[in-house]
Amino acid sequence: MPAGAQGLRGGAAAPTPQSTLAIRTPTGLHSPWWFGAAFWRIGPFFGGRLAIRRRAPIPGPASDCTVERSLLRRFVCYTHPKFSQSSVAVSTAYITHPSSLLHDMGPYHPECPDRLTAIGDRLISAGLDGYLRHYSAPMATQAQLARAHGREYLATIEAASPASGLHYIDPDTALCPHSLDAARHAAGALVLATDLVARGECLSAFCAVRPPGHHAERNRAMGFCLFNNVAVGALHALSAHGIKRVAIIDFDVHHGNGTEDIFSDDERVLMVSTFQHPLYPYSGTESVSPNMVNIPLPAGSGSDAFRTAVRESWLPALEAQQPEILYVSAGFDAHREDPLAGLKLTEADYAWVTRELVAVANRHGGGRIVSTLEGGYSLSALGRSVTEHIRELLAA
Ligand SMILES: [Zn+2]
Repeated sequence: MPAGAQGLRGGAAAPTPQSTLAIRTPTGLHSPWWFGAAFWRIGPFFGGRLAIRRRAPIPGPASDCTVERSLLRRFVCYTHPKFSQSSVAVSTAYITHPSSLLHDMGPYHPECPDRLTAIGDRLISAGLDGYLRHYSAPMATQAQLARAHGREYLATIEAASPASGLHYIDPDTALCPHSLDAARHAAGALVLATDLVARGECLSAFCAVRPPGHHAERNRAMGFCLFNNVAVGALHALSAHGIKRVAIIDFDVHHGNGTEDIFSDDERVLMVSTFQHPLYPYSGTESVSPNMVNIPLPAGSGSDAFRTAVRESWLPALEAQQPEILYVSAGFDAHREDPLAGLKLTEADYAWVTRELVAVANRHGGGRIVSTLEGGYSLSALGRSVTEHIRELLAA
C-alpha cells in the first residue's frame, strides 16, 4: 500500500489491497481501478456535474478516499476540456487570499486560521477542489467599503491596526498587524464574486475568507467581524451592476445583527435568517423592518425545526421577492459538533438548504449565488459542511 494512502486514512484499520486500488463510482459500488479511470474519463460526456451530486458523501476519518482517487480525479479535471481551467464551463468560483491565513487573534481563539486549512484540505480529499475555479481576492476599495460603512468608522478601524501585538476592539474581536489587510481582502472577495456572477463568468462563488462579517454593523465592529463582507458584495451588485433585488440568506447559528443594521428598511434587499436564541448577540427577535425575516430557534433544535423554518418562512419570502442574486452568509456553527452553540444540524442539512437555494436562484436569478464563510468552529464539521455546500453549488 502506498505510504500516502496510509496517511489519508489516519488511524483507520488497514484496508485490504483490493479496497486500496478500488474506486468508488457515482453508483456507490467499488470497481477495479481501470473501470474507475474509464468512468471518470468519459463521465463528463454524460453530465459530469451530475456525477458530483450522485457520488456518496465522503464519510469521516475512515473514508476510503485514497491518494490514487484524488490524483485520478485531478487528472481528469485538469485535462478534460469541460473542466479545465481555461474552460468557461467551470461553474463555481473559489475565492480566497493568503492574508486570510495571517489574521490571528491569538492562541485558543476559535476564529482561527486553521478553519480555512480544514476547508481546503477537505475539498481536496473529497475530490472537489479540481472542479472549482480558483481566484485570489482583491482588496476592496475605500469607496466599496463605504457603501456599507461610515467613513469615520473606516478611519477608526484603520487607526486601530497595530504595528505589533493585538488591539482588542471588544473581548472577542481583535486586530493583529495583518488583520486590516485580511479584512480588506475578505470584503474584496465579495466584490470579485459579485463581478463574476453578474457578468456570467461563473454561476456561483464561495468566498473562503476571514475575518467573517455578518456581526459588523455600519459603524461598529463586533463578534469577530470588522467589515460586513456580504453587505459590501450585495451593495456592489446594486450599485455597479444594475441589479434591482438581492436576497441575503443567513444560516449562521448567531443572528446577523450587522447585516440587519445595514439593510433595515432597504426595499432592494430581503434578509432571511435562522439562528439560535437566546445566544450572542441576543438580537433578531423584534421585527425591525418588513424586509427582515428572522426565525429564532431554541437550543437543541435540529434538522426538522430548521427545515420547517426554511419551508414555511424563507421560501415564501424569497418567492415573493424574486431576487436576481442570492447572497449566503454561510456560517456552519449550527452543526451539532460545534463548540460555540447548541443547534443540531448536520452536513446533510447544509446540503439540503443549498439545494433549496439553488432552486430559488434558478427560478428567479439565473442560478446566481454568492456564498461567503461566516462562522463554524469545529474544524472537522466545518470542512465536511462546506464541502457539501460547495458540492451542491457545483451540481447546480
Ligand atoms: Zn456564528
